[in-house]
Amino acid sequence: MSFYQTYRPKKIADLDLVAVRDVLLSTLASGKISHAYLFVGPRGSGKTSTARILAQLVNCEKNACKSSDFSEPCGECEACRVIGGGSSVDVIEIDAASNGLVDDIRDLREKVRLSPVQLKKKIYIIDEVHMVSTAGFNALLKTLEEPPAHALFILCTTESQKVPETIASRCARVNFTKATIDEVIGSLLKAVKGEKLDVDKEILQQIAEATDGSFREGHKILEQLSSYGTKIDEQVLTKVLGVVGRHSVKKLLDFVMVFDTDGIIKMFDEMEKTGVKAGILVTLLLREAKLEMEKQIRSGESPAIYLRIIDNLISSADRIKISPLPLLPIEIALLSVAIDEKGGEPRPKVQIPSTASKPAQETKKHEDSIVKLSAETLIKREETEDVDRKTVQDDSG
Ligand SMILES: [Zn+2]
Repeated sequence: MSFYQTYRPKKIADLDLVAVRDVLLSTLASGKISHAYLFVGPRGSGKTSTARILAQLVNCEKNACKSSDFSEPCGECEACRVIGGGSSVDVIEIDAASNGLVDDIRDLREKVRLSPVQLKKKIYIIDEVHMVSTAGFNALLKTLEEPPAHALFILCTTESQKVPETIASRCARVNFTKATIDEVIGSLLKAVKGEKLDVDKEILQQIAEATDGSFREGHKILEQLSSYGTKIDEQVLTKVLGVVGRHSVKKLLDFVMVFDTDGIIKMFDEMEKTGVKAGILVTLLLREAKLEMEKQIRSGESPAIYLRIIDNLISSADRIKISPLPLLPIEIALLSVAIDEKGGEPRPKVQIPSTASKPAQETKKHEDSIVKLSAETLIKREETEDVDRKTVQDDSG
């Protein structure tokens, strides 16, 4: 079994997404379990894991005779074990993204009437439910309109807007979000402890930053790293992920701000050699650019350049997938901002501080010069636009 499966939460209280955990805990306390749920959220956010816990919860022998005041699944009774092991005939998992689905859903209307064989409640988990066909949705709707008391439906989707309102309105909706860095770290720590891995917080932080809020992705990376031994350090991390440090990401953005195209090109050459992953780099750049943009807005500066950088990076994220050189779309995204902002002027001679050990004052001076430069560029551009507008007015008049 993979880390993700081995260390998936076993109880509602263990869920790593705090918001989901709290919603479900209060549902538990109130004893109002719905006959249908719609779990909405990105891939790897724990929807299926949560669905299984819910399946155990309503079937656990501790809860089997209750109609309210449910407690967490015990994990030990027959029902909990067959569901946990994925071997119960009464837990039907349908992946709407796969073929042969129409028949599955058509079947569902008839089969759902039959009582469960083994468990108290029959559980239907339909993954990627937005991909069900119109005929399938009609069958599903009829079932949800008159749900048999012995069935519980858990519909999961990454794209809730594609689920018909008639279906969605008959379900209790639970929103899963991308996990925060701390939530991913919390989840990874379970595997670190269980596998007796030697890995410090800084490394876990970097893994979490590279996952884009997906628990599954985080565990996948940790598992890959652990194949090099129980001690996981910076070296192993670079080998597996080709992770770029925050310092390099900042430096790259600084180069854009002073229009240093040579600096950008050189850094991309280095990253190409060390095998930096494009998907990770673009996420880290976006996160850093977002922070800088917010900083500028708060201090009353124009965030125009950062807005352009962010815009370009988002567009590049799609092109990474089709580019034979995955880093190239990111390089172009940054270079085009630097070139456009530079215009025809000679490049300003501003030195990028090469290490973090430079005195704080010098860094401050450097920041000031960047702000000044970008402000100047903006004013220049506005002036040009003014001239353009005047020209247009003159023509029309
Ligand atoms: Zn149990």
